[in-house]
Amino acid sequence: MTRHVDVVVIGGGQSGLAAGYHLRRLGLDFVVLDAQAAPGGAWQRAWDSLHLFSPAVYSSLPGRPMPVQTGERYPDAAHVVDYLTAYERRYELPVLRPVRVSGVHREDGHLRVETDSGTWHARAVISATGTWWRPFQPAVPGRCAFRGQQSHTVDYRGPRDFAGQRVVVVGGGNSGAQIAADLAYDTELTWVTRRPPRFLADDVDGRALFDAATARRRALDEGRTDTGGVASLGDIVAVPPVREARDAGLLKASPMFVRLDRDGVVWADGTRAEADAVIWCTGFRPALGHLAPLELRGPRGHIATAGTRSVAEPRLHLLGYGDWTGPASATLIGVGRPARDVARAIAGLEPAP
Ligand SMILES: Cc1cc2nc3c(=O)[nH]c(=O)nc-3n(C[C@H](O)[C@H](O)[C@H](O)COP(=O)(O)OP(=O)(O)OC[C@H]3O[C@@H](n4cnc5c(N)ncnc54)[C@H](O)[C@@H]3O)c2cc1C
Repeated sequence: MTRHVDVVVIGGGQSGLAAGYHLRRLGLDFVVLDAQAAPGGAWQRAWDSLHLFSPAVYSSLPGRPMPVQTGERYPDAAHVVDYLTAYERRYELPVLRPVRVSGVHREDGHLRVETDSGTWHARAVISATGTWWRPFQPAVPGRCAFRGQQSHTVDYRGPRDFAGQRVVVVGGGNSGAQIAADLAYDTELTWVTRRPPRFLADDVDGRALFDAATARRRALDEGRTDTGGVASLGDIVAVPPVREARDAGLLKASPMFVRLDRDGVVWADGTRAEADAVIWCTGFRPALGHLAPLELRGPRGHIATAGTRSVAEPRLHLLGYGDWTGPASATLIGVGRPARDVARAIAGLEPAP
């Protein structure tokens, strides 16, 4: 079946919903296609103990504040899923799921979107597919030789799966620190980071991160010195469980090992740690495979954008993947502004950048 709309939004997580909110306000004809069977995007896949790093009031999409979660200063992932579910219902956003987009193609002055449920033709496409679906693991020698279990952040559920085991957690970002803190009490933990962990001050949370990202973008836009943005503050938000494990002396990091062997990990000086499991908390890449037919990808897999708009394909916008598509646009509070700008640009209310 073939259908025609003004705009196809690919992805029904927080970024796709924020786009939908603004498209609806401007009266555009659009559809949101989401590969998941249920609302909530990546938040449905979060590990059991994951909490936001900002209070609810600083974690809201446009139009509708996230309600406070009773008894929790920092809401958990289930609360975010509930919020996103209510959000798309409240604004009657036309989300179709599960619908997986396989490819976006140029055709006669518009874009053709191929899916496992038919074809859509659109004047513009907003890609909002996130990063969770493309976990990244570095190429470290010996990975295939290791006989223990290897997994990634996306597979992690909770400490019960590793009780009593020797576990190596790799990664000095927020996921690595939070999963290491989660495992610190019930496992024999080795936490490995490429450089010494940099904790943000205990009173810094998501709100300060958003402010720092916005200040950086403003400085760059105005030709002033790069403020360093979020990176200048540190890497790890000291959320309460991380702070507790760190203060109890349970979060001591070792430098990165150079290889794995059958039984564990080995450092450059020959020191080794035997392991039952290695968890790679080594990040994500943007999930852009569906855009491959447009042949837009540059170095590091990114597509060159001016704001959210693809430089080489002006009918395509990218929303929510990281700072390269708008300051803090991969956060709940940060995606609202670029989502508004996308909708306005497509409606012709703003000149193309
Ligand atoms: C561990 C962790 C903690 C975080 N903590 C916070 C926090 O405290 N506060 C905060 O604001 N942010 C936080 N973030 C960042 C951010 O909010 C999330 O990354 C967020 O999920 C991004 O939303 P999104 O809508 O862009 O992508 P997603 O939530 O991943 O949604 C994308 C949707 O697109 C769908 N999709 C993908 N490919 C296709 C396709 N080909 N066809 C159709 N549909 C497709 C997916 O199935 C998914 O439903 C955190 C992220 C991580 C990883």
